[in-house]
Amino acid sequence: MEPVGREIFWNVGQTARWIAYVLMVVSFVLLVYGLKMRYAMWRLGKPVPFAFTQRLFERIVYYIKSAIFHKTILRPREAYPGMMHLFIFWGFLLLAIGTGLVAFEDDFFRPVFGITYLHGDFYLIFSFILDLAGLLAIVGVVMALIRRYGTRPDRLDNQRDDMIALMWILVVLVTGFLVEGARIAFDRPSYEVVSFVGWVTSSLFLGASKEGVTTIHAVLYYLHMFLSFGLIAYVVYSGRLLHIVTSSLNMLFRGVEDAPRGALPAIADFETAEEFGVNQVDGFNWRQIFDLDACTRCGRCQDRCPAYLSQKPLSPKKLIQDLKGEWLRAANGVKNEEGLIDNVIEEETLWSCTACLSCQVNCPVSIPTFDKNIEMRRYLTMTLSKVSPELKLLYKNLQNRFDPYGMGKSQRLEWTAGLDVKKATEEQVDVLYWVGCVASLDDRNRKVAKSVATIMNKAGVSFGVLGPDEKCCGDPLRRTGNEYQYQELAQGNVDFLNELGVKTIVTACPHCFNTLKNDYPQLGGNFEVQHHTQFISMLAKEGRISLNPTLEGVATYHDPCYLGRVNQVFDPPRDIVDKVKKGSFVEMPRNRDEGFCCGGGGGKIWMEEHHQHICHLRMDEAIGVEAATMITACPYCLIMMEDAIKDKEKSESMKALDISEIVAGGL
Ligand code: SF4
Ligand code: SF4
Repeated sequence: MEPVGREIFWNVGQTARWIAYVLMVVSFVLLVYGLKMRYAMWRLGKPVPFAFTQRLFERIVYYIKSAIFHKTILRPREAYPGMMHLFIFWGFLLLAIGTGLVAFEDDFFRPVFGITYLHGDFYLIFSFILDLAGLLAIVGVVMALIRRYGTRPDRLDNQRDDMIALMWILVVLVTGFLVEGARIAFDRPSYEVVSFVGWVTSSLFLGASKEGVTTIHAVLYYLHMFLSFGLIAYVVYSGRLLHIVTSSLNMLFRGVEDAPRGALPAIADFETAEEFGVNQVDGFNWRQIFDLDACTRCGRCQDRCPAYLSQKPLSPKKLIQDLKGEWLRAANGVKNEEGLIDNVIEEETLWSCTACLSCQVNCPVSIPTFDKNIEMRRYLTMTLSKVSPELKLLYKNLQNRFDPYGMGKSQRLEWTAGLDVKKATEEQVDVLYWVGCVASLDDRNRKVAKSVATIMNKAGVSFGVLGPDEKCCGDPLRRTGNEYQYQELAQGNVDFLNELGVKTIVTACPHCFNTLKNDYPQLGGNFEVQHHTQFISMLAKEGRISLNPTLEGVATYHDPCYLGRVNQVFDPPRDIVDKVKKGSFVEMPRNRDEGFCCGGGGGKIWMEEHHQHICHLRMDEAIGVEAATMITACPYCLIMMEDAIKDKEKSESMKALDISEIVAGGL
């Protein structure tokens, strides 16, 4: 029986061996040198504390799941690009491992490692897997070419680098199979049929003489070798392929968040700073700069951005790319005297963002955009004092009367008429119900406050409210960039709550929930904060209230961004809906992490809308699933959804309800 295996460097001999090893060293030196240069460019950003080794195990697990096994790349509605990337990634990974194994068996390394394996059954399995890997990679590249230059989704922009990178990879793969085919064609041993792609390509050379085959093989071999090592070096000099390094690292840096997702970084020192926020790219910290370099231009963020989808002048992908262009210019010594705002990024772009974090959470490599936007908003708001008249009024109301409406503290308890509600400033209570400005002062949302209080009373919860002593939590200030006024207001709240000895807070507003839970610890406020959906769900599980099926017709649930995506509270509201529905429940196409914003976050509810209303798009989805009730769990969402129902002239057939109203109605 013929021996199974193959000679490494067959037909090309010692010359090729030495060229290969020299090229390998040269390409890796170029790669390392390129990365060193890039490292210096990343350091254009400001230093920032980052304990990478903290939660290192979690980071590695995240990386294995997300990068190696493509969990974040193969998201729902991303099957085509996800599989395309998976094929290319795994194809190349296996080919790289296979090439390494071949090198270790070569005479050059064999004395070091002392192992031989490229023969017998191992060789057959090895050959089959490598051919499969190469084929998958080719399929992936062809899928990418079809998508980029055939179907051309709106979210992709084609640059010269995209075509060069894809074609280079394709030529490397195809020449690899041609080299294999020529080698097999020389004597066509029957066991080589396991190299099934090489077996097919070998038929291209069957008519050639032995000399012809060896000549063709040698020419193709050198071509393949130069292109392959060239590709390694090209990775670091190409904008397109560098993401292999930067995106991978960003998954390790950002995938496991080292601060709560909903918190914004605080400005620590207002006394000595000469300006606030960022208007030059070197004002960002190095991790933010690194984000820019890690962006693969995949456009998923754009596809999920409510501002972009409602025709506003904001694409998170473009924002990142525009900042990246600015960073590259700055790193090459070009000083932007004019600043970023209105030269690189338009003001309207900054104010179009609802801070919904859909871009960040759905980005396969976890790139945040709002953390950059907020720095520029801070510059506008605090350094330039350049804000719209609506925001000026908002700030004035919050300064003078501590609520966005300017209605004042005397009206904050009006909603309690007829209810047994204690004041937490006068009586010792177990739970503070933080009502929030909207539920305290907006007529529609006062019904929600009543419902929450009714549920707590029914369950026998010892609770109280602050009433006239409750002030805005500060979310609209913080997320519009007025960090100074936010800190002043929020610090007052934190000190007051600490003085009262508050331990547990329940709120029906996801924005208050997020601020109290995630922002206040920066100011010394460490409370157990629950959203009313979590609290109601807990009361029901403990048997302190019963959830009765009273909700007729088709119902759907709208995830508020700061409850769902930002704080990952998805199941408690759904558990409640499951119990209170009498008819059916149907999810809208965009739910949970992909939930679509109502348009009110990031301070937008207090600003004029000059473009398409985001809530109209969301309502179209609810109409699409034939919902009669749009359930939500946020006062902003409730206002937005009611407006959308009216604007869509659906008031006769649809209604929007807060989840607590349904529960309270069935008690
Ligand atoms: S920020 Fe993320 S989602 Fe957006 S284009 Fe870049 S890599 Fe893709
Ligand atoms: S936070 Fe939301 S609105 Fe802002 S850029 Fe990202 S997806 Fe768009």
